[in-house]
Amino acid sequence: MIVTDNINAVQKSRWTDPALRWGFVPTMGALHQGHLSLVRRARAENDRVAVSIYVNPTQFAPTEDLAAYPRNLESDLALLKQENVDLVFTPSDRLMYPSNFQTYVTVEDVTRPLEGASRPTHFRGVTTVVAKLFNIVQPNRAYFGQKDAQQVVVLKRMVDDLNFNLEMIICPIAREADGLAMSSRNVYLSAEQRAAALVLSQTLTAAQQAFEAGERNGTRLQQLMVNSINAQPLARLDYVSVADAVTLAEVTGAIEGQTLLSMAVFFGKTRLIDNMLLGG
Ligand code: AMP
Repeated sequence: MIVTDNINAVQKSRWTDPALRWGFVPTMGALHQGHLSLVRRARAENDRVAVSIYVNPTQFAPTEDLAAYPRNLESDLALLKQENVDLVFTPSDRLMYPSNFQTYVTVEDVTRPLEGASRPTHFRGVTTVVAKLFNIVQPNRAYFGQKDAQQVVVLKRMVDDLNFNLEMIICPIAREADGLAMSSRNVYLSAEQRAAALVLSQTLTAAQQAFEAGERNGTRLQQLMVNSINAQPLARLDYVSVADAVTLAEVTGAIEGQTLLSMAVFFGKTRLIDNMLLGG
């Protein structure tokens, strides 16, 4: 396994044999089974697998947890070695954002609601870093998690709009046995908060059950989820949304076609997200 912070080394490895198909998994490290599910899928579907580990500063607002974000490079590399990853790219901030850096990628409408409303500069950072990583690694396929549902919509838009020559593969949300979506941020939770955080997946399941029992009104489904989150005293609601899965526009009337239920909830300072797709 090659581990490098050098673009020339990545490209040398990438183009040793142009016929080989490369799968790529971008991450911010602090790897868990959710990340590894992407790596395994990439391993199964490609000749070579590249993973990037980079905590991208431009996707964090000044008030967010950039400095505190968990970093475990040594154990991450050990996990990736076990998965037979070929190349790990661990760039520095200086390489990714030199002092004269001034070019950003901005996706418009689908970045505005949901995460974009709570974190207005977040997606510009995500699209910019992912575009750079795609240009550096030049993969045939790129693997992302449905855990970050809006990120998937935004990045697919970018890939189509800017004609990136790769296939986007979206992998299901990996969950703990009790339903909590795996996240690098779960390590911030106290034992009490960890127990309370089950309210996210339980709320999504309750909404799914209501949908399956015939509830087709977006506003009523959203209200059901708001009430469920608010019933948990340690939870502080950021947003709960019932939206069209493609446009991300809120569905207030009849639910038709594929619909994204999504939410962000604070437990103390820790902000967790979760989501589920209905219908379609
Ligand atoms: P991150 O390190 O948080 O930027 O995540 C890197 C990739 O792993 C993104 O495509 C995430 O959507 C994906 N990911 C993170 N958590 C999970 C999870 N629980 N299940 C599936 N994919 C995940």
